[in-house]
Amino acid sequence: MKQSTLFMPTLREVPADAEIKSHQLLLRAGYMRQTASGIYSYLPLAMKVLQKIETIVREEMNNTGASELLMPALHPAETWKESGRWDVYGPELFRLKDRHNRDFALGATHEEVITQLVRDEVKSYKRLPLALYQIQSKFRDEQRPRFGLLRGREFIMKDGYSFHASQESLDEYYEKVFTAYQNIFRRCGLDFRAVIADSGAMGGKDTHEFMVLSEVGEDTIAYSTDSDYAANVEMAPVVTEYTRSNEEELSLEKFETPDAKTIAQLEEQYELASNSIIKSLVVKVDEEYVLALVRGDHELNDIKIKNLLNASVVEFASPEETKSVIGTSIGSIGPLSLPEGIKIIADNAVAAMVNAVTGANEEGYHYKNVNPDRDIENVEYADLRFIQEGDVSPDGNGVIAFAKGIEVGHVFKLGTKYSEAMGGLYLDENGRNQPYIMGCYGIGVSRTLAAIAEQYHDENGLTWPSHMAPFNVHVIPVNVKDDTQVEVADKIYTTLQQAGMDVLIDDRKERAGVKFTDSDLFGIPARVTVGKRASEGMVEIKVRQTGEVIEASVDEILQILT
Ligand code: ATP
Ligand code: MG
Ligand code: MG
Ligand code: MG
Repeated sequence: MKQSTLFMPTLREVPADAEIKSHQLLLRAGYMRQTASGIYSYLPLAMKVLQKIETIVREEMNNTGASELLMPALHPAETWKESGRWDVYGPELFRLKDRHNRDFALGATHEEVITQLVRDEVKSYKRLPLALYQIQSKFRDEQRPRFGLLRGREFIMKDGYSFHASQESLDEYYEKVFTAYQNIFRRCGLDFRAVIADSGAMGGKDTHEFMVLSEVGEDTIAYSTDSDYAANVEMAPVVTEYTRSNEEELSLEKFETPDAKTIAQLEEQYELASNSIIKSLVVKVDEEYVLALVRGDHELNDIKIKNLLNASVVEFASPEETKSVIGTSIGSIGPLSLPEGIKIIADNAVAAMVNAVTGANEEGYHYKNVNPDRDIENVEYADLRFIQEGDVSPDGNGVIAFAKGIEVGHVFKLGTKYSEAMGGLYLDENGRNQPYIMGCYGIGVSRTLAAIAEQYHDENGLTWPSHMAPFNVHVIPVNVKDDTQVEVADKIYTTLQQAGMDVLIDDRKERAGVKFTDSDLFGIPARVTVGKRASEGMVEIKVRQTGEVIEASVDEILQILT
């Protein structure tokens, strides 16, 4: 490729609003441009890297037995209403209307669309298991789009879904995808860790995140210094003494299940940085403190209970169990619905939650302005905390240390949540209708691009791992007015291309300094500089990552670079 024809607008200055290196360098090196907050154009250099990531993803996903399809990005509201998520997904879901005033959403994820698709076609156990995936733009109106491609509002995701007739079949496939993900991120050159998702308090095998280790990561990983134990420590408040702020305003009032707007207000009110967790509640069940996380995206209604004090007690209650413990939906902890033996342990955040929305004495309804002390009998105050650095690892081996991570992948056993809600049924061997048992598997493809850039750069620019770089070799004739240099450079260019390499030649009439600065920014693994000694048949090869410079004769180049 000739650089004179490539669209790669480089910048000398660091863009003012780009806080982290990957964001700065992808802009400066001409890989991308912002169109609006969290919305980017991927320029030709980025496309080439994205395609490499996608090739790896496709190879590894196909290896699991999944096949690729492409679903629509525009979803009718009806589909989301069937699963119940239209009402609970919250403000992250982009919603719009067509000319007939019908509601639609831009796909944030595709559980609904794929369940609808599969349920109409797969009706017998004989057609299961089935695994499908796509690579597509996703839309999420993130509260805080930032860090460039790391948190966009439109971003590229690989999302996969699997359908099974038994839990064993799902478990088996989950393992395969887990291995595929390890291969994918290893092949991308990333330093990463697979962690138990959703805090260290569970040892469950039901969901894992793949975290790229990085100081700019928004997630915190608790890992053992001496074993494989690693888990996501999800943000949640440390329990402190509860102070009531608006006592005089309290009154019981009935209103419908919180809608997206209420949830958004709650999130804003309590500044819950984590995008998925709306609130955590501490409750005491059978003399044990547990933490219930009320989530805002995937499973708003699946209030999950985790042991808090002793992270080695590792159970996720099923949504059914959980509901019976603390009510039927978000904030269902009113006095009448609190079963015997259950205590709410109040902290500021819990109290805030309780103050705002609580009490599902009647399904679908809640109270607001509830005061825990006054309106809920079993409120207790306790000094509780999350897993901390220096704690003994929950598996008993080593102590806990913390690290920051970027979530690039997430695998999740969904169970029958969507198939039950949406009538995704198949006939089993005995002719009985059963809901599919499902799994879902995401990879942030554009986030992965940024994560690689985050791990591979130096003060001069990007330093891609060789197989991920947009080109293999950058050939630079220093002075394009010098016929010999141009001739030698062209010859090298052709030779390397014929050997199957992807080569960029800087044929621009620019000063040498400009060419070298751009070249360093791009991060192409090897640079061949054709300068004054071209007339003697000598050139310079520079290794981008190490800075190592080798003098070579034109005839040796191919051998050296392969
Ligand atoms: P996060 O916790 O960072 O908000 P998530 O848990 O909401 O991510 P998932 O629903 O698990 O994301 O989506 C699958 C993958 O999509 C994530 O693991 C991540 O790599 C990617 N992803 C999610 N949100 C974004 C975003 N706003 N921009 C870029 N990639 C994203
Ligand atoms: Mg999110
Ligand atoms: Mg997450
Ligand atoms: Mg996730």
